[in-house]
Amino acid sequence: MIAEASSNKSIVWFRKDLRLLDHPALGYAFERNKEIIPVFIWDEQEGGSWAPGSASRWWLHHSLSSLAGSIEKLGGRLLFCKGSAAEILPRLAKKYRADEVYYGRTYDPSGISTQEKVEESLDQAGIETQSFNSSLLQEPWEMKNGSGKPFQVFTPYWRKSRPIIYREPLVYNTSKLPFFKTSTAESSLDDLSLLNTQNWHEKFAEHWVVSEEAAHQMIERTVDEVTHSYATRRNIPSVDGTSRLSPYLAWGLVSPRQICQAVLQADKEGSHRGENKFLVEIGWREFSYHLLYHFPSIPDQPLRPKYADFPWLDDPENLKLWQSGNTGYPMVDAGMRQLYETGWMHNRVRMVVASFLVKHLLLPWQEGARWFWDTLVDADLASNTQGWQWAAGCGADAAPYFRIFNPITQGEKFDTRGIYARQWIPSLQNLPPKWTFRPWEAPADLLESSGVDLGGNYPGPCVDHSDARNRALAALATLRPQA
Ligand SMILES: Cc1cc2nc3c(=O)[nH]c(=O)nc-3n(C[C@H](O)[C@H](O)[C@H](O)COP(=O)(O)OP(=O)(O)OC[C@H]3O[C@@H](n4cnc5c(N)ncnc54)[C@H](O)[C@@H]3O)c2cc1C
Repeated sequence: MIAEASSNKSIVWFRKDLRLLDHPALGYAFERNKEIIPVFIWDEQEGGSWAPGSASRWWLHHSLSSLAGSIEKLGGRLLFCKGSAAEILPRLAKKYRADEVYYGRTYDPSGISTQEKVEESLDQAGIETQSFNSSLLQEPWEMKNGSGKPFQVFTPYWRKSRPIIYREPLVYNTSKLPFFKTSTAESSLDDLSLLNTQNWHEKFAEHWVVSEEAAHQMIERTVDEVTHSYATRRNIPSVDGTSRLSPYLAWGLVSPRQICQAVLQADKEGSHRGENKFLVEIGWREFSYHLLYHFPSIPDQPLRPKYADFPWLDDPENLKLWQSGNTGYPMVDAGMRQLYETGWMHNRVRMVVASFLVKHLLLPWQEGARWFWDTLVDADLASNTQGWQWAAGCGADAAPYFRIFNPITQGEKFDTRGIYARQWIPSLQNLPPKWTFRPWEAPADLLESSGVDLGGNYPGPCVDHSDARNRALAALATLRPQA
């Protein structure tokens, strides 16, 4: 242990970069030979109405526990604090005689405002700061279209970004990181009260291992088993055809640079085919941050102004049916049940359930975004907002509103044998695939012999598909032309 009185110390303020590898603030401290006081601050006020939801806080709790363990092994102590970073950081700097604070930037409106306050208060206290990009491939402001404006369409954004976007992860020896061990803790992890009291998320532990090490195993799995067949398997929700790296990215247990490097390296060594498609998805994440940074009101307001007048319904009953996976449309219900059980949902199914909420039920996309926000372990303000506005037809590069996903044929196309639907809806277990996505059309004797009791152990459809489709199109027709 290094004496508390010694100088040349820096604080590394961990935010959405809860890892030791490829961590620019740690790398910078290491390079400058600074003893590192690692700090995490939980500010319940930060995020405002978009403060992390229950599932995300579960992930955060376990990420912090893992990070604290890794730092402890290297002789340090991760300090947990609760309150305003702008007040806590100058106090800690003074207490431990640290003359600099390093941190990774965040890009959501609330995170930016926190940074501004922190910079100001540390400046007043005479403490130097350095901030870094620790969670994106490129800064959201780096890319501009031909007129010097932010992009609002993905394809040209990606065409311009792709040749220059990949950057090497930082290289330093984590076992040599000079962590400083304070003699006492500030608060404990439990004092942060990140876990909600209902414990519904306890079952998440059956589906996820939350640690930086696990994140790297997931990258290995992605390179070995996912990317080469990604283009063909990524839309099939019953197979593990995607990386499931999203929650690790959300709290920065891994950086996008590390993922891209592993994938590009494998691409060089083999002749795989799916890599490009996979990397395009990482590109969508970058694009989502580009949009959120330039249009900070989009978590609540449609990017296309005319959609602010959309005649959404107020229908708490249907909202509840959707949230609990009881709409009577098996593809929708399977997705919503997977979400509630595991904290994650397959991307194809996210698109189907989102479309169903905004088009079949005519409920505001913001209601869906809020439910996802509370229940996704990968909840990410940029990607969630972009996904919901895309589904509602009101965002950048969105599918036109009049293109309405059919929840029956989406199931039949992407879950041909009904494996995914039956996995999450046990009452449909014995229904032959021909009827899985339209049980209300199955002959009564078949329903009976399959043990399906419509309106009993599985609901009938809460809206009729073609009526709902016509209603959605009529609602769209009430909007004035695009401003
Ligand atoms: C309505 C809706 C809401 C969504 N909310 C979120 C969210 O809160 N958090 C989140 O991370 N993703 C969100 N997505 C995007 C996408 O569904 C998830 O990123 C993906 O399903 C995560 O699984 P994966 O890691 O296996 O993805 P993979 O297919 O393996 O993709 C690799 C990575 O690329 C990124 N990515 C993939 N698809 C997208 C996309 N469409 N937009 C932005 N980034 C993408 C993710 O970081 C993902 O981990 C949402 C999509 C929709 C339609």
